Amino acid sequence: MTWLDLPEDAGFGPDNLPYGVFSTPGTPPRTGVAIGGHVLDLAAATGDGVHATGSLNAFLARGPRAWADLREQLTAWLTDEQHRGRVDPHLVPRAEVRLHLPVEVADYVDFYSSRHHAENLGRLFRPDSEPLPPNWEHLPIGYHGRAGTVAVSGTPVVRPNGQRRAPTDDAPTFGPSQRLDVEAEVGFVVGVGSQLGTPVPLGGFAEHVFGVCLVDDWSARDIQSWEYVPLGPFLGKSFLTSVSPWVVPLAALEAARVRPPARRVPLLPYLDDTDAEPWGLDVRIEVRLNGELVSCPPFDLVYWTPAQQLAHTTVNGARLRTGDLFASGTVSGPAADQRGSLIELTWNGQEPLTLADGTVRTFLEDGDVVTISATAPGTGGGRISLGEVTGRVEPAP
Ligand code: CA
Repeated sequence: MTWLDLPEDAGFGPDNLPYGVFSTPGTPPRTGVAIGGHVLDLAAATGDGVHATGSLNAFLARGPRAWADLREQLTAWLTDEQHRGRVDPHLVPRAEVRLHLPVEVADYVDFYSSRHHAENLGRLFRPDSEPLPPNWEHLPIGYHGRAGTVAVSGTPVVRPNGQRRAPTDDAPTFGPSQRLDVEAEVGFVVGVGSQLGTPVPLGGFAEHVFGVCLVDDWSARDIQSWEYVPLGPFLGKSFLTSVSPWVVPLAALEAARVRPPARRVPLLPYLDDTDAEPWGLDVRIEVRLNGELVSCPPFDLVYWTPAQQLAHTTVNGARLRTGDLFASGTVSGPAADQRGSLIELTWNGQEPLTLADGTVRTFLEDGDVVTISATAPGTGGGRISLGEVTGRVEPAP
C-alpha cells in the first residue's frame, strides 16, 4: 500500500521501484525512481551526490547492501504517510521528463539462449542439418557487441548501409539494408565488477547483477548473413541496440523467479544449476509493430539463465565491470505468435504479416515503429512493468 494516488495495475507500484536517469527542461540528468505516474528525484530527495552524476553507475558500484538499504528506505517513504512531506516536493510527473540512457555501458554481450529462436534460425539457414549446433546445449553461445551504440529507447533507428549479397548475386553490393529486423530480448545490468582471473560462480549472480531492462537488438539480416561466417555478427548488429529507460532491480523480481526448462544433457559443474537457486524469470514480453500486437514471447522458456550466462562469461577469468550489459538473445516461444523477430514471424519473408491497416510486412519499412514491453509477477501480488523500448525506423542516410 502507498499514500500515493496510483492508478490500478499501473505496473509501477511500490513493489517495483525501477531506476532511471531523467531530466526536465533546463535541469541536468539525474537519477530517479518511477512510482505510478511520477519520478521521484533521488538526487534531491536523498541529497546524495551519487544520484546527481547522470548515470546509475556510481550507485550500482556501491553493491548489494547499498541497493537493499535504499530500497528499504524508499519503500518506507512511499508507504508510510508520515514521510509524505519529505517526498512530495520531489515527485515529478513522468509526462514532463526526458529519459536518458540509464547506464554508461561498459562491455556489451549478446547471447543466443532461447531454444525456439535458435531452432527456428537453424531451420531457416541450415535446412539440411540439425537445427541446433552441437555446442548449443552445453554452453550459452554469445558474442561481444558494441557498447558505444547502445542507446535509450526512442533513439531513431536509422536504416544502416552496408554490404550484402543475395544468393543469386555474383558479387556483393552496397546500400541500405533491405531486411531490417527487431530482436526482443531481456538485458541484465552488472553493478559490481569482478577481479581479473576470478570466475563468478552461479551463486554469485545477485552479488554482481543489479537489475533488468528490455533490449531491442536491431538487426540487418542481409548485412548479417553475408558477414557472419566465421566470426559472428558485426556491422549487421552494431549500428544500434536500444534499451528501456527503467532498470528493474532483481529485488523487485523475487516473485518472478522460476526454474528454467528441463536440461536434456548433463551440464558441466560450473553451469549445472540443478541444485542452485533458480534464475529463470517469468517475464512476459509483448512486441508491437505500429501499435499492433504481433508477438508475445515467453521469457520463462529461455533455456540458459542469466546466472549461467554470467558464470560462462567469466569462467575463463574475464573480469566484469560496473555497467556491463548482457542480453538474453532473441526470446521466442514454440507458437507462431511467440516469435521475437520478424525473420521468424514471417519465416524469412516467405509468409508476410498482414497488419490491421491492410499493409503487409516481411521486414521493417521506413516509418515503422516497434515497441517492446513486458511485465512480471510482483511481490505485491499483481504484475510489475519493465517499461518499454521503442524505436522508429528512419531512411538510410
Ligand atoms: Ca540478438
